[in-house]
Amino acid sequence: MSTSSGQTAVPFSLPSFAADVGDAVVKVLDSGWVTTGPQTAEFEQEFADFLGAAHVVAVASCTAAIELSLRALELPPGSPVLTPSLTFCGAINAILHAGHRPVLVDIDEDTLVPSPATVEEAAGRVKPAAMVVQNQGGFPVDVPALAEAAGLDRSRVVEDVAHGPGGARGGVPVGAESQAACFSFYATKNLPIGEGGAVATRDAEFADRLRALRLHGMSKDSWRRYLPGGSWSYDVKRLGLKANMTDVQAAIGRAQLRLLPEWQRRRAELAARYDEALRDLPGLVLPRRDLGEDVRHAWHLYQVRVPEREAVIADLEKAGVSTSVHFIPAHQLSVYRELLDERELGSLPATDRVADGLLSLPLYPRLSDAAQDRVIDALADALRSRG
Ligand SMILES: *Cc1c(COP(=O)(O)O)cnc(C)c1O
Repeated sequence: MSTSSGQTAVPFSLPSFAADVGDAVVKVLDSGWVTTGPQTAEFEQEFADFLGAAHVVAVASCTAAIELSLRALELPPGSPVLTPSLTFCGAINAILHAGHRPVLVDIDEDTLVPSPATVEEAAGRVKPAAMVVQNQGGFPVDVPALAEAAGLDRSRVVEDVAHGPGGARGGVPVGAESQAACFSFYATKNLPIGEGGAVATRDAEFADRLRALRLHGMSKDSWRRYLPGGSWSYDVKRLGLKANMTDVQAAIGRAQLRLLPEWQRRRAELAARYDEALRDLPGLVLPRRDLGEDVRHAWHLYQVRVPEREAVIADLEKAGVSTSVHFIPAHQLSVYRELLDERELGSLPATDRVADGLLSLPLYPRLSDAAQDRVIDALADALRSRG
């Protein structure tokens, strides 16, 4: 791609793939077993080791991971579930598809995630049975503090860590403080497979329930039925989904996982370069990230707040720089306005104030220093010309 200025464009996102991904895929195809099987089991173990998690269950997507986790909690149908409004629509859909009712939570304007105060306000509107917390951009939220504010035990917290492998708080990697931590391996995410997801949990029985639920609710998947000593027989005790991960995806994931620490290092380096270069730009607001010893950001996104966002986006496009917006809040989207009642929608003043200015800049391991400098220069020009 090139622009009118003749320079190569800077895409918003470009996935990295390990050099041995192709070989890994061919091996799986040659093995004669392509659906959920030995590669998936190996990937689950290796991802659990990376996270320091007790159990990982690999699934088709993070959206499926959230829905399956909520189903595995076995709440009464129609239970209220807290969720930030400023999240991906798939995460709200997952609550509804699990048969429950999203109750939207406002954010703290500085950090872009719910605070104990905003959670308490929402829990006062509708008493929740569970909550979904989300690590916006890769910023690890304080799960125990948010659970306490909601009046919920941590066994009722599902963590949407689509932005999160690599993050940590208080020396504890993301996912360790909740009942279920849900990861995404979508094309743009920190560990890209193309599509895929996983749930990490400390609860062995919960993990078993998820394993059944990801494949129709069957008590044994076909790999386990055909292992030596296995049999054709199975039971279906709970209604599940078709949301298993294939061995082709798992083989890609295993090759990718070996490069994840290096990719995380590069993401953090690029974020630090942005911090340094953007600090004093007129009109620009950087989210507060509470970094330091205690908090390791996973840097999925580099989000800023800008005035006159639509014009800034157009200027950046003209300079060959693609950007994105995370997210349009749920309460501004038609289907949720139709489906949710007033108490569930609530009033979300901080989300409304922030949402119009949010802008995500290119941030991925393949982004070169030179390409990042181009983003910085283009953003500086766009802001100075209207500052
Ligand atoms: C990408 C994303 C998801 C969904 O992930 P999929 O694997 O595509 O289903 C969920 N929540 C958030 C915050 C996301 O960014």
